[in-house]
Amino acid sequence: MRDTSPKARAEELRRLIRYHNDRYYRDDAPEVSDAEYDALFRELSRLEAAHPELADPDSPTRRVGAEPVEAFGTVVRDVPMLSLQNAFSDAELREFDARVRRFLKGRGIGEEILDRGGYVAEVKIDGLAVELTYEDGEYVRGATRGDGVRGEDVTANLRTIQEIPLSLPKDRKKGGIAPSRLDTRGEVYMERLDLAALNRGRERAGEPAFANPRNAAAGSVRQLDPRVTASRRLKLWVYGTGRVEGVRVTTHWEELALLAGLGFPVNREWSRRCRGIDEVVAFYREVEAGKDSLPYEIDGVVVKVNDAGLQKELGEISRSPRWAVAAKFSPDRAETTVEDIVVSVGRTGTITPVAVLSPVVVRGVTVRRATLHNQDTIDGRDIRVGDRVLVQRAGDVIPEVVESLSAARKSPGRGPKFRIPDRCPACDAPVERVPGEAAHRCTGDGCVERRKRALRHFVSKNAMDIEGMGTKIVSTLVDEGLVTEPADLYRLERETLAAMERLGEKSADNLVRAIEGSRRVPMSRFLFALGIPLVGEHLSEVLARHFGSIEAIRGADGEEFRKVREIGPEVAAALRAYFDSPRNGKTVERLLREVTPLPPATRAGKASGKTFLFTGTLSMPRARAQEMVRREGGSVAAGISGKVDYLVAGEDPGNKLAKARELGVPVLTERQFLDMLGETG
Ligand code: NAD
Repeated sequence: MRDTSPKARAEELRRLIRYHNDRYYRDDAPEVSDAEYDALFRELSRLEAAHPELADPDSPTRRVGAEPVEAFGTVVRDVPMLSLQNAFSDAELREFDARVRRFLKGRGIGEEILDRGGYVAEVKIDGLAVELTYEDGEYVRGATRGDGVRGEDVTANLRTIQEIPLSLPKDRKKGGIAPSRLDTRGEVYMERLDLAALNRGRERAGEPAFANPRNAAAGSVRQLDPRVTASRRLKLWVYGTGRVEGVRVTTHWEELALLAGLGFPVNREWSRRCRGIDEVVAFYREVEAGKDSLPYEIDGVVVKVNDAGLQKELGEISRSPRWAVAAKFSPDRAETTVEDIVVSVGRTGTITPVAVLSPVVVRGVTVRRATLHNQDTIDGRDIRVGDRVLVQRAGDVIPEVVESLSAARKSPGRGPKFRIPDRCPACDAPVERVPGEAAHRCTGDGCVERRKRALRHFVSKNAMDIEGMGTKIVSTLVDEGLVTEPADLYRLERETLAAMERLGEKSADNLVRAIEGSRRVPMSRFLFALGIPLVGEHLSEVLARHFGSIEAIRGADGEEFRKVREIGPEVAAALRAYFDSPRNGKTVERLLREVTPLPPATRAGKASGKTFLFTGTLSMPRARAQEMVRREGGSVAAGISGKVDYLVAGEDPGNKLAKARELGVPVLTERQFLDMLGETG
């Protein structure tokens, strides 16, 4: 008979957790989701708390990570890199605050000291924890966290990451002054788009895709050959220090400023100084609501007591500091039923199978449809109509069906397997599987649905931004044969539009104005509007900045594309394939007769050569102000230092203001800033 005693369960949980630790930390290939792992971990912690006799110093609840892999050299550190306690709700965050206060009270420390310094809340990046060591301002060593004390030596691999400074400034004028010894800690991560591109390549090469950005970062850094690391697009956020000599900071917030001043990438935009736990909870909610729009994945918010003296006082429990907590987000999955499977035709003709679901709420949003990606995914996950399935809204906003529970449970009497149809449901042209890819594509050049999608993308907000040109109008224009490609939009007569069903005179006027208004457009938006596969908004900007003209882009060969830092071989090939097609060539030429793409700001931009930094609340989102600076040829600093030319101070400015004054950096109001960039009036 199965032993159901607490002791047996604790042993089973320890065994399971150790097994998953090895898959996660050593192999970078977890078999269960973090939420499932966290549930096991929690159960064990509770069991051990309820049964002190089960205590075991070797229990995973007392240990950090996993032992380092010997093939890498080992780095032994004297200030261990710890894990973090977890909180899974607002209530648990408040419990953390109460614990901190109780502990301090027990030491005779008044709450006002905690209130004065407050907390610092930061996003928790889903990447690989590393420590970088600098001696006299020179990078000498880099290591993973390993088991906390002993990490894996990945010095050479980390050297290949562009964002890691190899030398720190040694001169006050050039920023901070490097301390004699600095161990800085941060997270190596991969942006979502880069991970998606890497995974596409791996799938094509028959290699397993990385399950999440953490595993991708870890799998890229923990390589015996640094060239592999170099070939991956890795980035770094720095959020703390280990051993430091030659400089002293009194708060965590100051520490972040110091690191930024030394040239480390610090995520100032998503770090917040909070006066009390209410502000922390508000930040946690704000981040949860906005996390899908960040270019990188995060799995929570880290909250730290700001005052360094209090941190020391609070100290640590076996595997984590008492002064910090990781507030994780609720799981992104829910269970529902597949009512039907349909296919949709994308703007490049890709046929995507979509599951029509019984409505289900996932992270606050009702999901009715979820992508099934392609035939291989459907086959691999064995998803059929009528199945109970798990639906996920994770990094991407598009929900997906991750698993068929009916298949896993071998439920009897399931429906037939789904096959993508041989003919396009929109135009009846044959559907083909693209050689070497998982996607099926409609081969019909004149496919109406495809045309509509392409046009809808063309007029969309982040592309040509033709306001008022909604899905229905685009659809009617195509159905009536008035528009077949983007250039046709610029030849539409006001009368034609006004005569369209449900479009009055006034809307027709507005629409004509919007179309006219889009004739002069930043080059990056023009490129994005073309809908070149793999070329999103960001890469469009990169291309526009690098080449400066559409002609130069059209004429560039694969080699020239690849010279651009952010363009890999796949995107280079996609660009070449797009411009090599005579059909696309004609589309672009016709369009260029109607539209003038404006080259990006050159040296003559109003902010050209100047570095700006922002503090406090502006009347517009900070990202927009930063974008204005870049558009005018300027750059945005990560932190205050002598390199900053102007600090723009909004309402309620942070301590950057005092630092700027100290350093003699000119301070602008928002109005002065807008005047300078010629954005007023
Ligand atoms: P953790 O990931 O919960 O928190 C500690 C880590 O957070 C730090 O080491 C640091 O790397 C990182 N971090 C990111 N941003 C930070 C910031 N701004 N400030 C401070 N730290 C920041 O703890 P852990 O010990 O690394 O791992 C435990 C977690 O890993 C589990 O909760 C689970 O989610 C996951 N895990 C999953 C599996 C699995 O099989 N799926 C197995 C083991 C661990």
